[in-house]
Amino acid sequence: MTRWRFATATDTGVVRATNQDALYVDNQIAVIADGMGGHAAGEVASEITVNIVREDFALSGSVEGLHDAIEKANLAIIKDAGANPEHFGMGTTVIAVGVTYDLEGVGSPTLFNVGDSRAYQLRDGALRQLSDDHSVAEEWVRMGRLTAEEALTHPRRHQLTRALGVEEKLDIDVLSLDIHEGDRILLCSDGLSNELSNEEIARIASAPNSLDDAVMRLIDGAKRAGGNDNISVILLEFEEVSLAATPIKKTVSSASPPVAQSAQSQANSIRRRRQFSWRIYAIAGVFALLAVGFVLIMHWYAYSTFYLANDNGVVSVYQGQPNGVLWFHPQKVLDTTYQVSQLRSADQQALSVNIAEPTLNAALNYAAYLHTAWTLSNNGSTTTTTTVTTTTSKVKKG
Ligand code: MN
Repeated sequence: MTRWRFATATDTGVVRATNQDALYVDNQIAVIADGMGGHAAGEVASEITVNIVREDFALSGSVEGLHDAIEKANLAIIKDAGANPEHFGMGTTVIAVGVTYDLEGVGSPTLFNVGDSRAYQLRDGALRQLSDDHSVAEEWVRMGRLTAEEALTHPRRHQLTRALGVEEKLDIDVLSLDIHEGDRILLCSDGLSNELSNEEIARIASAPNSLDDAVMRLIDGAKRAGGNDNISVILLEFEEVSLAATPIKKTVSSASPPVAQSAQSQANSIRRRRQFSWRIYAIAGVFALLAVGFVLIMHWYAYSTFYLANDNGVVSVYQGQPNGVLWFHPQKVLDTTYQVSQLRSADQQALSVNIAEPTLNAALNYAAYLHTAWTLSNNGSTTTTTTVTTTTSKVKKG
């Protein structure tokens, strides 16, 4: 079981026009967010963060729950900035201590940090910084590139290397707190830590006065020192502490785990496959239409003409191309009443070359014409009647 008393205050400071810090504290969670971004957008980012952390942690109460709440806040800020151009570029730090419950129901204090807001532990008047600043200068100090003293005045000491609202991937420092009863934890935005030295902070925050008094004096001290930034302070005093059975000290990255990545790439490849098969179907459809069109045209062409032929000595009318087209073979339409022998011999020969006519009537007229020519050439010998009536008056010339 972990219980704390708390006091809190926030102040715009002396220089800034608005307070873009946001904070919240109750007996289970303490959180400060230091927002950045013009046109009050920083205020939006810090508000989103504090609200989500507060609401989600109230529901979950676990390390994972608080971690997930911070990730959710990060995505919510990015989404809001995407939807509201005036919020573009906004971001926020977040520092939080939650009483996190394990599976046995033991609640122990766990610190979460992204950015350069700070957590200090105070014991017996001594101060120890628990959080690492995620600023360029402080990262360089940790790399040995700068000394701590150089970092205090380095031009890039305010440039953050991590913040919420920058990108979807987020690294969150998670630390199980090793605390005794009576210890105090101070959470603050950089508006306090930039104005007061560690010694000043230690002296004021450790004073055996009321917590409220200490908080008020920290804010006053920062304002007197310049008050160049918004100042936010939460002071916790632990009355009872349970330590984590398996203490955590790690940076948790939100880089997608391999399973999620493969699911993602699987989704992509499914999408790609769908697009691919869609194109295949479209192309196949076009080819099918072309093929059908081709067959129809061929069919039309194959049966577009009529011709006369010698069918066992009878002048017959066939429809189609004499030699066929593809699998469309000529078909006999009818026999005329004319015998091949009743045509002039030259015309009998002509039958074998299959003179084509565009219509059945034209073919019949031509047959009649050939027969008439034969009749005339035989000096008016008997004509043969036809059972086929041909009403067309025009007679085709041979
Ligand atoms: Mn600040």
